[in-house]
Amino acid sequence: MSSKVLDKFLKENLNDLKEKGLYNVIDPLESANGPIIKIGGKELINLSSNNYLGLATNEELIKACNEATTKYGVGAGAVRTINGTLDIHIKLEEKLASFKHTESAIVFQSGFNCNAGAIQAVMDKNDAILSDELNHASIIDGCRLSRAKIIRYNHSDMNDLRQKAKEAKESGLYNKIMIITDGVFSMDGDIAKLPEIVKIAEEFDLITYVDDAHGSGVLGKGSGTVKHFGLSDKVDFQIGTLSKAIGVVGGYVAGKKDLIDWLKVRARPFLFSTSLTPGSAAACIKAIDILTESTALHDKLWENGNYLKKGLRELGFNIGNSETPITPCIIGDESKTQEFSKRLYEEGVYAKSIVFPTVPKGTGRVRNMPTAAHTKEILDKALSIYEKVGKDLGIL
Ligand code: PMP
Repeated sequence: MSSKVLDKFLKENLNDLKEKGLYNVIDPLESANGPIIKIGGKELINLSSNNYLGLATNEELIKACNEATTKYGVGAGAVRTINGTLDIHIKLEEKLASFKHTESAIVFQSGFNCNAGAIQAVMDKNDAILSDELNHASIIDGCRLSRAKIIRYNHSDMNDLRQKAKEAKESGLYNKIMIITDGVFSMDGDIAKLPEIVKIAEEFDLITYVDDAHGSGVLGKGSGTVKHFGLSDKVDFQIGTLSKAIGVVGGYVAGKKDLIDWLKVRARPFLFSTSLTPGSAAACIKAIDILTESTALHDKLWENGNYLKKGLRELGFNIGNSETPITPCIIGDESKTQEFSKRLYEEGVYAKSIVFPTVPKGTGRVRNMPTAAHTKEILDKALSIYEKVGKDLGIL
């Protein structure tokens, strides 16, 4: 028999979410996560994935994955420290370190796990963390796990950050102080002001932590936001995910050798959760080889991003101030945004609405994520559907 308290809690809260239109219905894909997907038998143009470079369906990655699965099996068999470290995990870490221009790197099972493990491995209740108010949920959770004092600063507001850093430093209350920021903010596509952040960190001797989930493969000719600004030797923690531009799954921290050695003995998801599957590790290695050999996919992503942005802007949509291929189409009103996304779906475009509380009230948007795998024809078709729905709903 299930708990009455739990039953009541679930019923009330689920109903509440549904009444407010905040219950997230999850659509199962019946196809690979490429530029065209299939849901419920219907083909749709996919503008919702983080598969920036199209590598999730790349044949070379699939081959590498299959070969490693044949050689090592489907699972790594244990956590890394017991006997789950395969030679391909080490090889992947070496590749990542050189890709990120750092001394060393450590791989986790996901980007989320990196943030859940790396922050608390270094920070504790006698420390403080300065965190951008728009940082990703996994950063917020990672900060909470550390029990350090969390001081939020206004989004990318360097005056606010400097003032709060100064106050924290001068208070004498904290042993260590860290600044944490996303490299690229995924809701608006804007880039963190890393040169200023590094300057503030140098002024007050702060630890720097950049989660580059959306910048790796996209900025710095693929190497990420830190490289984009030429700051590879100035940022202590470079976090990345292997699930977006790399197209597979997993996460990593790149940094100095001592830092990575420390994470290997203190980061709890690394110590207590089974390592990346062999097939995933091998596919990630192949992805990094591809990105290191050529910028073709990176260049195509930017070409497609700029094409879609130009098209939407010319139609008359408000696409915000994105500095990356992430292309929000800002509708404003929450229910209109949801209606817009629903109509796009009916017409054949899969682009998700993002509304309060994920973004501020009144800034509801449909977020478009073009990838290197989209063709001009697909993007043109998407634009014509945008035009139709925009006119039908009186937005254009
Ligand atoms: N950090 C940021 C900034 C992200 O956007 C995401 C994914 N949405 C993550 C971490 C988590 O990455 P993963 O999906 O690999 O767990």
